[in-house]
Amino acid sequence: SSAKPAFKRILLKLSGEALMGDDAFGINRVTIVRMAQEIAEINRMGVQVAVVIGGGNIFRGVAGGAVGMDRATADYMGMLATVMNSLALADALDKAGLTARVMSAIGIDQVVEPYVRPKALQYLEEGKVVVFAAGTGNPFFTTDTAAALRGAEIGAEMVLKATKVDGVYTADPKKDPLATRYSEISFDEAISRNLGIMDATAFALCRDQKLPIKVFSIIKNGALKRVVLGEDEGTLVYA
Ligand code: UDP
Repeated sequence: SSAKPAFKRILLKLSGEALMGDDAFGINRVTIVRMAQEIAEINRMGVQVAVVIGGGNIFRGVAGGAVGMDRATADYMGMLATVMNSLALADALDKAGLTARVMSAIGIDQVVEPYVRPKALQYLEEGKVVVFAAGTGNPFFTTDTAAALRGAEIGAEMVLKATKVDGVYTADPKKDPLATRYSEISFDEAISRNLGIMDATAFALCRDQKLPIKVFSIIKNGALKRVVLGEDEGTLVYA
């Protein structure tokens, strides 16, 4: 189509759970292939795409498998889980016809190259998809914060937060039939209404940097493309 993307460079945040599909854990093949194809579609439209991927489908430092563990140690395990997801996504992106590069926030050079900002920018300019692995490289943080951080660093015009619901609602749409979706909402209003859109660190960073967030559904086919075309899809959080 001749539709023009509304953005030149975006940062896409995928949770680990987004890769599970309907499975209980791990990576669902059909799901990751579909995601790679949707990313390929927007990349071919000329949008530079950087991705931060979570690790919750494999390991989460704060809960579950980490009970009784030292928090920092558990968090490093969580970061390693994001490296696995990043490798899987990059593989799927390559098979979808793109060129993907994984860059890690922690040194693990035999597996993936280290994150070096100018190099990441170069890859993006070349049309490669950059997958940022290992979160921020620090325990006590999340991949949402990594998304905000890398998004700000690479000058992304927007952080696209993929979730299972198609935006931010006035109440939980599963419990309240009268709940309605915000088409857009300011950072300040989201805070005053106590809408948990991203964790507080990530949210504060985006707000300070005036980096808009778009919350959209990763399950809904074509939603990513509609977001990139600037259509009323999901919820825009603006400064
Ligand atoms: N993590 C971390 N520092 C970071 C990013 C992630 O310690 O900068 C760890 C943390 O233990 C977290 C896990 O990696 O629970 C997986 O990341 P996250 O929970 O953000 O994944 P998602 O919920 O997006 O799948």
